[in-house]
Amino acid sequence: MRDLLDLKNFQSQHQARKYVNRAIQFHHPYTFEERERIIESVGNNVFNVPSEITMVDLLSCSGTTTPTIEQIAQMILGDEAYGTNWGYPQLMEQFERVFGISRDDWNIYLFHQGRTAEHALFTEIGGGLQRSVDAALRYLWGYIKRGGKRLKIPSNGHFDTTRANIEVNDIEAIDIPVTRSIPDTEEYFFGGNIDTDALKDILSREGKNVPLVYCTITNNTIGGRAVSLKNMHKIQQLCGEYDKPFFLDACRFAQNAYQIQKHEAEYKNKTKTEIVHETIGLCHGFTISLKKDGLGNMGGALVVRKNSPLFKQFPEFFQHIKVHQLITEGHRSYGGTSGRDIMVNVEGLKTCLSDESLESQIGQVQRFGEYCKSRGLPVEEPYGSHALYFRMKEYRDGTNLKQEDFVGISVAAKLIRLGPRLCELGAFAFGKYDPKTGKETFPPFDLLRAAIPRNKYEIEDLYFVADCLKYLFDNRDKLPKAVCTHGKDLALRHFDARFELQTIK
Ligand SMILES: *Cc1c(COP(=O)(O)O)cnc(C)c1O
Repeated sequence: MRDLLDLKNFQSQHQARKYVNRAIQFHHPYTFEERERIIESVGNNVFNVPSEITMVDLLSCSGTTTPTIEQIAQMILGDEAYGTNWGYPQLMEQFERVFGISRDDWNIYLFHQGRTAEHALFTEIGGGLQRSVDAALRYLWGYIKRGGKRLKIPSNGHFDTTRANIEVNDIEAIDIPVTRSIPDTEEYFFGGNIDTDALKDILSREGKNVPLVYCTITNNTIGGRAVSLKNMHKIQQLCGEYDKPFFLDACRFAQNAYQIQKHEAEYKNKTKTEIVHETIGLCHGFTISLKKDGLGNMGGALVVRKNSPLFKQFPEFFQHIKVHQLITEGHRSYGGTSGRDIMVNVEGLKTCLSDESLESQIGQVQRFGEYCKSRGLPVEEPYGSHALYFRMKEYRDGTNLKQEDFVGISVAAKLIRLGPRLCELGAFAFGKYDPKTGKETFPPFDLLRAAIPRNKYEIEDLYFVADCLKYLFDNRDKLPKAVCTHGKDLALRHFDARFELQTIK
């Protein structure tokens, strides 16, 4: 029988989600006045309010993923043995499968977060892990050969914890992202790329001061934008020419693979798994937080090829990392997490590259972006895969607010009074206070980030956030300035600082 309705070709304005809720949590009934009192009591720093006062918590998508029922089931199977819990070999197997690596050629070190893996890597490179007179002498000799110059690590965009871990080891962290962005080109979607001309320039002029080249996929600091495989091939080629190790910050490897498959013509017919394997195949090592695309709540790793130019500079690398891991994280089989986390991560790695999972996450962020744009909000495009970024400069336009008034801090502090929690990643988080001159220096961007936890919120929740942002945008001439009253000189100062909101004339 003919289907007169032609249902097969039905198109709808809205799409059903690719999952259903199997457990929910009701909000705690906080009033506006209660929220206001609480945010004021923590110095208007949204990091430090209890999460239950928020209605839509977009502070971070890190470790905030709603677990699948399979992950919850695996928690029960978690083995809390001190030595070699039974999830460990399964996790190693998933690392090999997902990243296309073999433990014959790679070493995998578990850490409890991405940043502790970074800390181990950069402490070793910065010379802080010298455990022998030999290593100390070698470090000193390197320092003399460089003419007392600091080491520098170029990247398409260092994440804040990466930068902090590099700088705390007295190494310079350099961001050289592409600055061009031309709509309607393939490159447009890969605004996370590194500027390969700038990289070549650094390597040719100062190669001896560069212990490794780093690339963050996707580029969280630069709007969460993707990095193309073409760009990573070029980095690999340059690293080869100058005999430098190439490392990835692979926290969002799955979302990056999704964007490559969708927007890089050459990879349209490759699977996401093939794209991940090709990506990892280019590098000598990577740090990763499993709290992002790993779909876990806790976990991270430092993964390093056994054969890498890194060991010409650091021959005792693996011994040192092993000791560092043992001292800071415990036995290698749990790396600072629990057996439960290990099992959640095993299960997370099994689903992280599925179309259902990636399309739900990224599709929702894109729809949220379209809504914000339709309401005239200054949202960065192309939209990030895990987050939207709002330009605070435009919240200052036509007002008396200046960059040093930290409008992102003040917008976030006002928003949380209405329920949404977003986070400033701009003039304050990436700015720096010089205690000698009393001056602030600012990054080239001033953004407020809405990071979308995976599988947690429905689209209406996000529309509500957009409506709140719109109200503040339309009333920006009435926004207060944020004056930092504590912590402006701290490392990663946005976590601990306190602010006073002051009305300006
Ligand atoms: C989250 C993140 C890190 C740090 O990982 P943690 O697990 O939070 O320590 C490093 N790099 C990028 C790009 C990240 O998004």
